[in-house]
Amino acid sequence: MDFRDDARLDGSQVESGGRGGFPRGGLAIGGGAAGVIALVLALIFGVNPGNITGGDPAPLGPASDLAAKCRSGQDADQNEECRVVGVVNSIQDYWPTVIQDYRPAKTVLFSGQVNTACGAADSSVGPFYCPADQRVYLDLSFFNDLQSRFGAKGGPFAQAYVIGHEYGHHVQNLLGTTDKVRGSQRGRLSASVRLELQADCYSGAWAKNAYETGLFEKPFSRQDIEEALSAASAVGDDSIQRRTQGRVDPDGFTHGTSAQRVQWFTTGYTSGDPRKCDTFAGGI
Ligand SMILES: [Zn+2]
Repeated sequence: MDFRDDARLDGSQVESGGRGGFPRGGLAIGGGAAGVIALVLALIFGVNPGNITGGDPAPLGPASDLAAKCRSGQDADQNEECRVVGVVNSIQDYWPTVIQDYRPAKTVLFSGQVNTACGAADSSVGPFYCPADQRVYLDLSFFNDLQSRFGAKGGPFAQAYVIGHEYGHHVQNLLGTTDKVRGSQRGRLSASVRLELQADCYSGAWAKNAYETGLFEKPFSRQDIEEALSAASAVGDDSIQRRTQGRVDPDGFTHGTSAQRVQWFTTGYTSGDPRKCDTFAGGI
């Protein structure tokens, strides 16, 4: 993944520094920390379904955007936070070409704990999207875990895949697809699995079209895509269950198997067409 040196970044799409504690009554919002932490492994790239009706965005604590620091593609190539900015910019340049009334969503980079309109969360939940405040939450330390604990190859494009997946949830929220999932549905053919696999597919569709957003030097390489596939495979329900409970329980699936996650990212990537991402239609 190589940004064009002179590509201009919009740092205001990413906030950095949301950290530390649960400020101003955050525990009361959306079930609180215990509820969120209980979901730990259920939220590997999750969409947080709590309090979907919520109105007011939760206070985020001290946060600053990266506008001053991340100005060019060169910054994105040299700095991890700026690379996130570049990827988010590209994703949000792409989706308006597909969805007429796309509304941008911010990414919040946090460290440790963060307070959101979906409740307070800590890093253990992994990256997630909160529909109630329409923000993507990302603790960059997760990407180290992805390698060390989940056995993925890692690399910049593993990160890009995850960010693409989270913005897939934002698109689902805008399109009303998120409403199809109620409560904590689980199981091989559950709406939750279908929603998650569709987000993987949307990430692939962006990856295919990302070069057209003008931010990158060249289309993504085979090696880039392999980083995404390795990450998708590492976070399949079956792989995670095998690692954490020593056996596979399809009734507990929430995100799809490794093979399914790889397959749906690939469907999005090879077609470049989000309309091919209809995971709700039939067999998955
Ligand atoms: Zn997800």
